[in-house]
Amino acid sequence: LAMVAQQREVEEATSAALAREREANVQMQAMDRAKNELISTISHELRTPLTSIVGYVELLEDGDDLPEARRADLLARVSRNADRLLTLARDVLRIAALDQDEWAPRRQLIDLRACVQAAQDTAAIPAARHGELTVGVEVPDHPVEVHADQQEIERVVVNFVSNAIKFTPGRGSICIRLATRGDTARISVEDSGLGIARPEQDRIFERFFRSSIAREHAVPGTGLGLSIARSIAEAHDGSVGFWSREGEGSTFWVDLPMAGDSEPALLDQP
Ligand code: ADP
Repeated sequence: LAMVAQQREVEEATSAALAREREANVQMQAMDRAKNELISTISHELRTPLTSIVGYVELLEDGDDLPEARRADLLARVSRNADRLLTLARDVLRIAALDQDEWAPRRQLIDLRACVQAAQDTAAIPAARHGELTVGVEVPDHPVEVHADQQEIERVVVNFVSNAIKFTPGRGSICIRLATRGDTARISVEDSGLGIARPEQDRIFERFFRSSIAREHAVPGTGLGLSIARSIAEAHDGSVGFWSREGEGSTFWVDLPMAGDSEPALLDQP
C-alpha cells in the first residue's frame, strides 16, 4: 500500500513538472512573439524617415539649378527626418534598458518641486517657439519629498509637457501642478489642446500607438514616450494616469508614494 501511495506521489510530481514546463513554453512563445512584433515595428519606423532622407539628399545632389527656396525646404525636410530618427533611436534604447530586469532607478530623497521647475525650464523654448501658449505652474510652498531618481521623474514630466505643447495647436494654456493627497504626491500636466478620442483612450500607453488625431494633424512623435513614462513610474512603485476629452484637452499625471519618516534606509542604496 505504501508503494502505491509513493508511486502516485511520483506521478503527481511528474505531471505537475510537465504542466509547469508547458506553461513556461507558452510564456516564452508569447515573449518571442512580442519581441518579433517590436523588431518589425522598429524596422518599419526606421525605414520611413531613412527613405525620405535618402530621397531628399538625392534631389539635392542632382539639383544644381534648384531655386534657393526649394533647397532650403529640402534641407529642412532632411533635418526633420533626422531628428525623428534620433528621437526614435533614443526611445528604443531607453525601452531596451527598461525591459532589462536589472534596471532599477537610483533613488534618493528629492523634492518634487525641482522636477516641476526642470520641466518648466525645458518647456520654455518650445513654448516660446509655439508662440500662442501660456505655461503656468502651481506648486506648494513646502517641499514634497519622495524617494526617486530625479532625472527619471523629470523625464516623465518633460514628456507630458512636450506632448501638451505638441497637441495644443493655436492659442492655449498648459498648467503643471504638484499636489499631495494622503501619502501620495501627484504631478499633473493639463492642456487645453486637441484631446484624445474616447475609443482610442485605452490604447495610448501601448508602444508605438499614435492617435488618429496625432496622425491627422501630422504631430511628430514615435508613440513611445508614454509607455516609457509608465515603466519609469512603475519602477518607482508609482503609476501614471490621464483624463481627456476630444476638443477640450487632456490632463496627464504621475503619482508617487511620498517619503515617510519610517521609510526603510534600504531605498537610499544605489
Ligand atoms: P508621441 O507623442 O511620440 O506620439 P506618446 O507615447 O508620448 O508618443 O503618446 C502617445 C499618443 O498619445 C500620442 O500620439 C497622442 O495620440 C496621445 N497623446 C499623448 N499626450 C497627449 C496630449 N497631451 N493630448 C492629446 N493626445 C495626447
